[in-house]
Amino acid sequence: MNLVLFGPPGAGKGTQAGLLQTQRGWPQLSTGEMLRAAARDGTDLGRKTKDIIDRGELVSDDIVVAIVADRLCQDACTKGAVFDGFPRTIAQARALDSMLASCGKQIDRVIELKVNDDVLISRVEQRLRAGGTHRADDTPETLRHRLGVYYRNTAPLLDYYREQGKLAVVDGMAPVPEVAKAIAQIIAGAAPAH
Ligand code: ADP
Repeated sequence: MNLVLFGPPGAGKGTQAGLLQTQRGWPQLSTGEMLRAAARDGTDLGRKTKDIIDRGELVSDDIVVAIVADRLCQDACTKGAVFDGFPRTIAQARALDSMLASCGKQIDRVIELKVNDDVLISRVEQRLRAGGTHRADDTPETLRHRLGVYYRNTAPLLDYYREQGKLAVVDGMAPVPEVAKAIAQIIAGAAPAH
C-alpha cells in the first residue's frame, strides 16, 4: 500500500504517518524530515535549502524529487510507504507517479486531513507558549506564509487525486486516536473515495 497523507502545514500528517509506521511497519517518507536532517548534518544540500525552509517557501521540485528517489526505490517499490509532505506540487505528483510506475506500483490512497486555518494558527501559538525548542518555521507569521503557499501550490493536487478516485477526507481536528481510527477505516476500504 502506498499512501499519501495530505493537508496543510501542522495538520498532523507527521503524527499519523508515525503511528502507521509504528503500528504497521509502513515506512514514513517525510521530505520535511529528510531536508531537516540534511540541514542538521550540514551537507551541501542542507545548507542550500535551510533558508528556504525557514522562510516557509517550497524547496525546488528537482531537489525534493532527488532526495525522495532513493528511499522510494527501497520502500515504496517493495513493501509500500506513507508519504508525508510529498508531493506538494503537480510536478512532484507526476514525478512520483512515474517513479512508482517504473516498479509497477502506484499511489493507492490519498487521505486529506482537513483542519481550519484558525485551528492551525492556534496550535502553533500553543506550542510557542509551551516553550522548549521549536522549528524556525513554526511561528504564527511563517505559518501564515506556509498556508498561502499550501493553498496556491499544493491544494490544487486535491483535484488531481480526486479525479483519479483516490481521495478520502478525514476531520483532522478530531483527537489523534479518532483521526487514526478514521484513517484505518479508509485503509481497510470501508470508506468510499470522494
Ligand atoms: P509541514 O507539513 O508542517 O509544512 P514539513 O516538515 O512537511 O512541515 O515541511 C517543512 C518545510 O520543508 C516546507 O515548508 C518546505 O520548505 C520544505 N519541504 C518539505 N517537503 C517539501 C516538498 N515536497 N516540496 C518542497 N518543499 C518541501
